[in-house]
Amino acid sequence: MTSDSPIKAFIAPVTPLAQNCTVVACAKTNRAAVIDPGGEVDHLLAEIARRGFTVEKIWITHGHLDHAGGAAALKAATGAPIEGPHPDDQFWIERIEEDGRRYGIPDGRPFTPDRWLDEGDTVQVGETSFEVFRCPGHTPGHVVFFQRQARFAQVGDVLFKGSIGRTDFPRGNHADLIASITGKLWPLGDDVRFVPGHGPMSTFGEERRSNPFVADHVLARAAAV
Ligand SMILES: [Zn+2]
Ligand SMILES: [Zn+2]
Repeated sequence: MTSDSPIKAFIAPVTPLAQNCTVVACAKTNRAAVIDPGGEVDHLLAEIARRGFTVEKIWITHGHLDHAGGAAALKAATGAPIEGPHPDDQFWIERIEEDGRRYGIPDGRPFTPDRWLDEGDTVQVGETSFEVFRCPGHTPGHVVFFQRQARFAQVGDVLFKGSIGRTDFPRGNHADLIASITGKLWPLGDDVRFVPGHGPMSTFGEERRSNPFVADHVLARAAAV
């Protein structure tokens, strides 16, 4: 973030799946939204307090255990409302405990969001707002959070540095995922920095140049075949 950015952010990997829980705070008020608290809520709360932030919102990109498993506990600890994902991910949220047993993450809990999200919604933290884009493919109800002035996005498991989200889960869809990336993310601008659900940050421009699944030259070649 540059010094005149409206937000401050830090990433705290959580769960055995090293999911990038991302805390974004309004730079003026230090009020924070916790995006994808997959677990380790006590650790997250300590980090947030250490930086002087106050949790105001909990935002969820999609219903997978490692992204949403700690939302209920974080809400219980802070009173902050849970916003997102889109209702088409409800079936994933309902499976959180069952999936937790399978993946060795026993403390995940299902929840009902205080607000479901959809394309075109805005979410607010402090005096800053983020735009919501619905990006199905990895899961049907996946959403992405974008702060236009800061040129910053949290894209969950839609896009990674050098890769894209899995689509072999129930109701996953590869064509939808590609359409989400090229139709929703790329138009936001090559300069946009993004936090993926796992692994290092990148920019949309870098992925358009070099991502082996969705670089411009890769998709052009696929379209020509
Ligand atoms: Zn996922
Ligand atoms: Zn994930």
